[in-house]
Amino acid sequence: MLVGIMGGTFDPIHSGHLIAAERARVEADLAEVWLMPANVPPHKPNAPKATTEQRWEMVCLAAEGNPFFRPVDIEITKGGVSYSIDTIELLCKEYPGTEFAYIVGADMVQYLPQWHRIDDIVRHIRFIGLARPGYELDLTHMPINIRNRVTIVPMPLVEISSTAIRNERQRNGSVRYLVPDSVNSYMEVNRLYES
Ligand code: ATP
Ligand code: MG
Repeated sequence: MLVGIMGGTFDPIHSGHLIAAERARVEADLAEVWLMPANVPPHKPNAPKATTEQRWEMVCLAAEGNPFFRPVDIEITKGGVSYSIDTIELLCKEYPGTEFAYIVGADMVQYLPQWHRIDDIVRHIRFIGLARPGYELDLTHMPINIRNRVTIVPMPLVEISSTAIRNERQRNGSVRYLVPDSVNSYMEVNRLYES
């Protein structure tokens, strides 16, 4: 069984994440996609704006209705900085019969060589890379052990980011349809990212 893991800060989760997860599922024939919010993301200069619980609740809302999507809280439960290698070692131990593939947008694909212990990571799992506006999906300059483990799947360019959603909400704009309705309502009720 091959399971896709979509990790992220998800501050908030948006339609770009969901489209990428669904594209990866179909193109790579994944049994499931696990949506896995990071507790403390290792690569971000600023702390998330929403609380960990709010980010988790929005991921749960977004996963509803797709029987192949499963919210997974292992990084949150573990706490601390969420290094992928720790999560991967844990997953491989707990699910010995399952193979895992990390689903990553082009910005993360570019950044792969800098991931903490990437040489160990690529021994355990593969990556599914998807296009994202503003980032090259060019693997030619990547070390061969990493490049060999990345499969690119087609993805319509979706110009949505959590940063843009937070900014739009801060200036009282609408992010309707950029996020699932359930997530939009959650942000409104909880006045998330408002100024
Ligand atoms: P932020 O602006 O806060 O960095 P983000 O939109 O980049 O948020 P993340 O939680 O940082 O979202 O990203 C999680 C994963 O989703 C990453 O692998 C990222 O590349 C991917 N991703 C996010 N948005 C898109 C998109 N529009 N198209 C393709 N991949 C995306
Ligand atoms: Mg990002």
